[in-house]
Amino acid sequence: MEFQGVVKRFGDNTVLDGLDFSVAKGDRVTLIGPSGSGKTTILRLLMTLEEADGGIILVDGDPYTHEIRGGKRVEVPEKRRRAVRRRVGMVFQQFNLFPNMSVLENIIEAPMHVLGLTRAQATVRAEELLDQVGLADKRDARCTQLSGGQQQRVAIARALAMDPEILLLDEVTSALDPEIVADVLGVLREVAETTDITMLIVTHEMQFARDVSNRVLMFDHGRIVEEADPETMFTSPTHERTQEFLRAVL
Ligand code: ATP
Repeated sequence: MEFQGVVKRFGDNTVLDGLDFSVAKGDRVTLIGPSGSGKTTILRLLMTLEEADGGIILVDGDPYTHEIRGGKRVEVPEKRRRAVRRRVGMVFQQFNLFPNMSVLENIIEAPMHVLGLTRAQATVRAEELLDQVGLADKRDARCTQLSGGQQQRVAIARALAMDPEILLLDEVTSALDPEIVADVLGVLREVAETTDITMLIVTHEMQFARDVSNRVLMFDHGRIVEEADPETMFTSPTHERTQEFLRAVL
């Protein structure tokens, strides 16, 4: 996954001003940085929930929206855009489950409608995933009957049901009570250990970043100010801005 000179503005606010960075397949990268530094915007661009004002975003070499050929902008056809988009999954802070559907229905919806799996195929996979996230017994429950931690584990299963190449995790534990944060982090740690899914993680849980990621990028005002492995970043950051940020959050 690669950002090449990506620009994103909201009105007069230039959030990303020519951002370049790339993440290799199977990498686990945590984005840290102060509020408003553009971390969530990066994930939303990758999910096509926002559109960039400039630059190019590539998923495993395939451009999302357009490419430059012979100095000219060439749009990616809608069908190919959707195909690229499908390779990226996201888990949100607020779970974003369909409240009126059962747990199972939430998980099988996209595999059936987007990937074209039969209900039986999608159900087999969903049951495996529910087992993996420790919620096999909640298969037929309504999402509204579940605790926050359980809903987040359903959201993780739902994202994994699409077999994403890249999984985006946006503050997935921020809305949870401290005592259940560990359950959700445990599930994600297992995903990291048992799959080669590329992960892009925005979190304030520095221990999670340490356990799961192999690279940490420190953002400030839409720019990467420092990049290091977690051990180095959290014990001996070199940039003053990182030191200041980590002093405030650790
Ligand atoms: P946090 O840690 O608080 O989630 P962040 O680093 O993820 O912050 P972003 O959410 O990416 O930051 O926001 C970057 C900037 O873009 C902020 O100034 C924010 O106010 C602005 N912004 C984000 N989304 C929108 C939007 N839909 N409309 C207008 N401004 C927005």
